[in-house]
Amino acid sequence: MSERGGQCMCGAVRFAAREVPDTFGACHCEMCRRWTGSALLGVTIPADKVTWDGREAIATIQSSAWAERAWCNKCGTGLWFRVTAKSDYSDTIEIPLGLFDDPNGLHLTSEIYIDHKPDSFAYAGDGRKLMTRQECVAKFSLLDSE
Ligand SMILES: [Zn+2]
Ligand SMILES: [Zn+2]
Repeated sequence: MSERGGQCMCGAVRFAAREVPDTFGACHCEMCRRWTGSALLGVTIPADKVTWDGREAIATIQSSAWAERAWCNKCGTGLWFRVTAKSDYSDTIEIPLGLFDDPNGLHLTSEIYIDHKPDSFAYAGDGRKLMTRQECVAKFSLLDSE
């Protein structure tokens, strides 16, 4: 756990996060792929441990029946993914790794929708938990309403 700050590309939105874990996950689902242009490398943080500055520049979209995504309305940087439906995940947000001022020292420990990853690239290293779309749907009942 650490305290880390970060911002969007233009700096209109900044955040300070406490209780940042030293792990993050990759999501290769079609929505994350299109949203990020590659994969969402998300650091999962309790929502109440993150303080946002520049809220007037934050826009959100309900991107599915059960989750929202936020971005900076000045530069377009994706800011967070959050499960809005009542669930075990409702109290956390995922902040893209790349937003942190210092994105070093964290470990990629899981990749989900691994069967949807483009075949042109793969993250280095091994020992990660890998889940296919089917395994994700079996584990996270929310996805049924996709
Ligand atoms: Zn911005
Ligand atoms: Zn995804």
